[in-house]
Parts: sequence; structure tokens; C-alpha cells
Amino acid sequence: MNKIRNYDKAAIKKADSDHHFHPFTDSKGLDNDGGARVIVRGEGCYLYDIDGEKILDGMAGLWCTNIGYGRDELADLAAEQMKELAYYNTFFKTTTAPAALLAEKLCSLLPDNFNHVFFSNSGSEANDTNLRLARTYWQHVGKPSKKIIISRTNAYHGSTVAGASLGGMSGMHKQAGLEIGGIEHVMQPYWWGEGGDMSEDEFGLHAAKEVEKKILEVGADNVAAFIGEPFQGAGGVIIPPKTYWPEINRICKEHDILLICDEVIAGFGRTGNWFGLETFGIEPDLMTMAKGLSSGYLPISATGVSDRVWEAFYKAGDDFNHGYTYSGHPVASVVAMRNLEIIEEEGLVEKVKNETGPYLAKRLEELKDHPIVGEVRSVGLVCAIELTNDKEARTRFPNEGRAGTVCRDHFFKRNVIMRACGDVMVASPPLIATKEEIDLLIDTARECLDATAKDLGVM
Ligand SMILES: *Cc1c(COP(=O)(O)O)cnc(C)c1O
Repeated sequence: MNKIRNYDKAAIKKADSDHHFHPFTDSKGLDNDGGARVIVRGEGCYLYDIDGEKILDGMAGLWCTNIGYGRDELADLAAEQMKELAYYNTFFKTTTAPAALLAEKLCSLLPDNFNHVFFSNSGSEANDTNLRLARTYWQHVGKPSKKIIISRTNAYHGSTVAGASLGGMSGMHKQAGLEIGGIEHVMQPYWWGEGGDMSEDEFGLHAAKEVEKKILEVGADNVAAFIGEPFQGAGGVIIPPKTYWPEINRICKEHDILLICDEVIAGFGRTGNWFGLETFGIEPDLMTMAKGLSSGYLPISATGVSDRVWEAFYKAGDDFNHGYTYSGHPVASVVAMRNLEIIEEEGLVEKVKNETGPYLAKRLEELKDHPIVGEVRSVGLVCAIELTNDKEARTRFPNEGRAGTVCRDHFFKRNVIMRACGDVMVASPPLIATKEEIDLLIDTARECLDATAKDLGVM
């Protein structure tokens, strides 16, 4: 089985270095490190690079390849659809069969009060859509002053101008004059990092109350929505205390604020339910979906629109002046539809809930006693390991981020992918991962923690 094409490695590395401007990358640093690793093939939970190295993908790409790599049937379906109808739009009183059927299918998976979806091409675009939906909703119901969106520091909602502004990544805000107006950030529900002497439950309530404080400060008449990820992904797999989301539900209802649940990572089985809102008890008005919607096979995203919001737009008798050329792209829709069926047919959500999720949690616990580990946490098939120089004081090594980078490089050398979010090591393997693959991930993590501790002069 040699599906690897006969690439000329030197030519590809040169082309990449000479012409490819990489996202979220220090280009000079990349060149100094010898350039980017060239991935040429994927199969199941594994990637193969141009040198033929087999790599365990503990991150499911960028948290997206839920059904794993190398599903020929998705390629065949995409080819069939492309031959029949490669493209048509969904503006101007037209639709395509794949977009209509995917909308119906998605709504069958969403909470009962969600019966419509709006398609975009990425999580970022879907959050742009959400911002416009939320503000326009309040115009339609006669409360146009409700414009502010409240988010959290260290949230990730994408990289378009609206997505990055909604997110709370300070490094992104520093560049290019972000964020745009009308967005306010409050503290994140990050107990290990910011909980101080409070118990987790106390801190969860405290962090939620910060949202209420902000609403009172700017005036509920000026607030359109609150946006949050069920658990923060790119921020370091920050899983809120169980008191947090119920209190957020209460606050949004009491002050009549829309709740936007960004399910881009949490959706499609990651936490052991179809959506993170089931796992955490979140009651949203809008939902962002991307990544696992197509398992990354093609770009597609969707906003789930609750009946409350839908009815306001429906009754308004006016166009929603928003859409993308590729909203509901037929080829991406066909592929997403089959991806959802595969998740169902293979029982991946139940498998994560009953089998691999608990197994990952159990194996992760073994790392808790390691001298540089401050906390381990997981929900379903996503987990984090906090690196610390003082378990009790919950502090970081000097030069925050360096310990994470050192540890990440040890994973890299061992052909296992785990990501460093600052000094938090995170993993989010494909939902098809077996116990053996989880063993490989955790056994490698222990080796890498040992090696990192040594490098940092701890062991
Ligand atoms: C990745 C991500 C996004 C952005 O999705 P893109 O497809 O990269 O635009 C938005 N929200 C969350 C929670 C994400 O993890």
C-alpha cells in the first residue's frame, strides 16, 4: 500500500520556504528550524510525512478530523457530486439538494428549539454571521440599542476581523488595530490559572457573575449577546467548573441577552455527546458549528438558529443582507452529510462517552503525580496537562510558554502530535482513536514530561 506520490522533497521545501506565507507562524523562525514538515498522507489516526515517518495525530488536525483520515467513500461522493453539479449558490430563490438535505439532517441533531441553519465556510465566518444575526435580531424586535457582545479573555472564535475581535487572544488583538467596536471581554472560567483560593464551584459562580457585572455596567439595553465555547479549546482546553454554565443561562435569560454557543470544537461528539451544550447544560439561542461538521474533508460551517431568532427574521419581511458565495456549497454539503452518517453508523459519540473518553481520563490521571504536572483534565476525547514549577502555588516556569514549546518538541521528535497552548499541553485525537492509540499518546506524554523536566533542570 504505497499511496504516497513521488514528490521531490527538496523542491517542495524550497517552494514552501520561498512562497508560502504560513498562518500563525514566525516565518524567519520556521526557516531557521529547517522549514515546515511536509505531510503527504493520512490514514485513520495517523499521518505520514514526506520522509515516510508515521505520526500519531493526537490533535485530529486542528481539532477537526473526527472520523479520521483516508475515508475513500467521502472522496468518491465528492467526485460524483462535482461531476453532477460542482457549484451553485443558495442566494436569489435557489437551492441545491445537498444543502437542503444537510440543513434538515443538522436540525435533527440540534436541540428541539433549533429548526434552521445558515451555512458559511469556516468557524470564523460562522461567527461573523452570528454577530450580524444577533445585532440584526434586536433591530427586528425593536431594541436596536442592544449591540454589545460579551465574550471572555483567552476565548477563540476565529481569525476573521469579527472572529478575532470576539475572541480574547491578546496577541491577535495587538496586531492590525483590533478589536472592532462593541465587544467587551470578561474573565475566563479558568480555575487552575485564576481561581486562587476559591473552590472550583465557588470560582465557577464568580466567573459567571463577572458577565452579569459587565451587563449591569454597560446596561442590559445595550447588550445583544454573550458568546462562549462550552470548553475553551485553543485557550488550553479550559473546562469550566460545573457551576458556570447554569449561572450563565440564568444571567442571559434574566437580562434578555442572546446566548451564542461556539460548538466549533465541542460539536460532533468531542465531549461524548453530539454537542457540548448537552455535556455542560447550555441553553443557547445561536450555535456555531464547523470543524467536525465535515471532519475537515472540505471547508463548511453552519450557524444553528433557534426558533426565537428565526421568527424575528421571518416576520421582519426583509432580506438578511448577508451570505457567502459558497454558503451551502453542494460538494462540501454532500461530504458533511456523509460524515454525520458515519459518526452515527459507527457509534462514535457513544464510543467516546462510554469507552474511550473514560479510558483517556483514567490514563491521564496517572500523570497527575509527575513533578512538573499541575493538573490534568479532560472531557470526552479532549484533554490538557498543565505544566508547573510549583504544584501547590499553581505557578508557571519562567518565560511562560517555553516549557510548553520544549515539551511539544519532544512529542514532535517521537512522532506524536500534541499541541502546546502556552504551558498547557493539549490533545484532541480523532474520535475513532482506540485504547491502543490512547495508550501510545499517554505513554509518550510521560516520556516527554520526563525529558522536559530534565531540560528545565527539575529532574
Ligand atoms: C477553530 C475555531 C474557530 C474558527 O474556525 P475556522 O474554521 O478556523 O475559521 C471558531 N471557534 C472555535 C471555538 C474554534 O476552535
